Amino acid sequence: MSSVSENLAERLDRELRTRSQEARHYLLTAFAEAASTIDRLEEPPSIVFLGNPFEGHREIQALTRLANGFVVYLPPLALMVDPGPDIISRSLAAGIQPARLKAIFVSHPHIDHYAGVEAVIEEMCLLMMVRRGYLLLSADTARSGAISAFHRGAAPRGGPTTMVLEPGKSFELLGTAITPVPAYHPGGGCGLILKKEGLKIGYTSDTNYVVSYRGKDGVHQLSGGDPFQPLDDFEEIQEYRQDLKDRYGKVDVLIANVGGHNSGVRDELSSLGLAHLLRGSQVKLCLLTHFLRTLLVPEDLRDRVARYVEAASGVKTMVACSCLRLDLAPFANAEGRD
Ligand SMILES: [Zn+2]
Repeated sequence: MSSVSENLAERLDRELRTRSQEARHYLLTAFAEAASTIDRLEEPPSIVFLGNPFEGHREIQALTRLANGFVVYLPPLALMVDPGPDIISRSLAAGIQPARLKAIFVSHPHIDHYAGVEAVIEEMCLLMMVRRGYLLLSADTARSGAISAFHRGAAPRGGPTTMVLEPGKSFELLGTAITPVPAYHPGGGCGLILKKEGLKIGYTSDTNYVVSYRGKDGVHQLSGGDPFQPLDDFEEIQEYRQDLKDRYGKVDVLIANVGGHNSGVRDELSSLGLAHLLRGSQVKLCLLTHFLRTLLVPEDLRDRVARYVEAASGVKTMVACSCLRLDLAPFANAEGRD
């Protein structure tokens, strides 16, 4: 090496060492400042939806469009539910800063519900530098190994407090009462009911509802068989998940992972089942999300499904489109109602 390039290398080395030291100091200060101010920023009570699978996409192979995820703000709680693939870019598009979340819930270990969770944990815990926030997992999710031990709290410097939920066992988190509700789905898991100051919000997760139905030639049990086989001879529901009707029928706002209409009924709620669940309920608004491909390609049938559920149940129903922001204040009751 010539002495000229040696001198240049020495000078750059000195400069880069100094600059690296300054950058480290800058970042540590910025993290400390972010950690001390982040909890003061609060949104009004609201729900923001981050995406529907295949919305605007017709490609059948587009796995990344299996895009679940929404955020519930019941200040001081800011809870992200079922962060699917692409969750960071979809959050930013909806005006959500994942670093400001205070809790994350994963209902069950299917990829469209958990693929983005580790990235969101890194945001919430400021690149795992800060002990902050809660990770709420159904027992099936916790057992599955879908989320690394590092992100469940084993990282040396920071990370969330992980809680494993048991259906029926309510607990309080940041002023909101949370009740896990059973889900009947190949991925197991659970849904949730959130209650705060006379407002109840339900999330069904993926679950079936119809146990048996009456067709033209008698009663059919819905166990086994092709899960996506449409029920062409469906006439009426015979047996159903009474516990789900009892629990979700008492919420003010229900977020329903609808699946299909008369297909996918073995593993998913389906709009036939959902209309039955809502009939005679206290639900003021039902928001439909998590549509199977049969309701999106080749034709977008979601609005017709919402109109069917509303007409068949008498409950106001709408599609939870990407970036939909729902103000929750109009749905609150006077305190004390069950
Ligand atoms: Zn699932």
